[in-house]
Amino acid sequence: MSEDVHEVYAIRYAHHKRRSPANFLDGDPHDVLQPLDYFVWAIVGPSGTIIVDTGFDDAMAQKRQREMIKPVRDGLAALGIAADSVKTVIVSHLHYDHCGNYDLFPHACYHLQDREMAYATGRCMCHQALRLPFEADDVVAMVRKVFAGRAAFHDGEDEIAPGVTVHHIGGHSKGLQSVRVKTRRGYVVLAADASHLYAHIDGGRVFPITYNVGEVVEGYRTLKKLATSPRHVVPGHDPLVLARYPAAKPGLEGWVVRLDVDPKE
Ligand SMILES: [Zn+2]
Ligand SMILES: [Zn+2]
Repeated sequence: MSEDVHEVYAIRYAHHKRRSPANFLDGDPHDVLQPLDYFVWAIVGPSGTIIVDTGFDDAMAQKRQREMIKPVRDGLAALGIAADSVKTVIVSHLHYDHCGNYDLFPHACYHLQDREMAYATGRCMCHQALRLPFEADDVVAMVRKVFAGRAAFHDGEDEIAPGVTVHHIGGHSKGLQSVRVKTRRGYVVLAADASHLYAHIDGGRVFPITYNVGEVVEGYRTLKKLATSPRHVVPGHDPLVLARYPAAKPGLEGWVVRLDVDPKE
């Protein structure tokens, strides 16, 4: 494996049944079942293992009425990754479904955008409409990591390891970042919530939770520019990811898939 080429995996941990009007800013006339899956991602390469986002735990699943499928720790273990050996975690943004389980990686440094921390601890959180997808305990846990010397801040584009870069997108959350990874099939982009579903980036449509609509739709262009092809962009919550990509290993179908090989369709 060359110095900067990585394997990339999507690990599903939770699920939410919902209908399509809940997934688009202006609703959806088709009103069909369009559930969301919840993922964390693992990047495995010569610089070690990098985890993108940390998911939520059982207690949060109950509080937010989401269905826990398999705890994040189990998904990592299925890939042979011991959470306490992970040194690097990239946090796409601080919404409750991306930054929980904060004791799972006791030896990791957490990478996030300046703007996301400022947003999640500043005046915008005075407004219920904006703080809805955040949990105060999650934000406090990140503040504690800052004071423990276990956070690293980025302002826009930055390199985490050779072949792995973060890119500020904003839009859905003010400091949302996506991750570009060099793989054997080219540059794969883990959009996280810069595109919840393929339908968002493909149709130029917008998820209802949004800080800035202009940044969301500009973000789609950025994601496509960063990726080797549109088929290299991986949305953050789409069950189709599990259908399009092969299982990481036999037995992990519908749970852990490999993203550094071409999708089936
Ligand atoms: Zn989000
Ligand atoms: Zn999310």
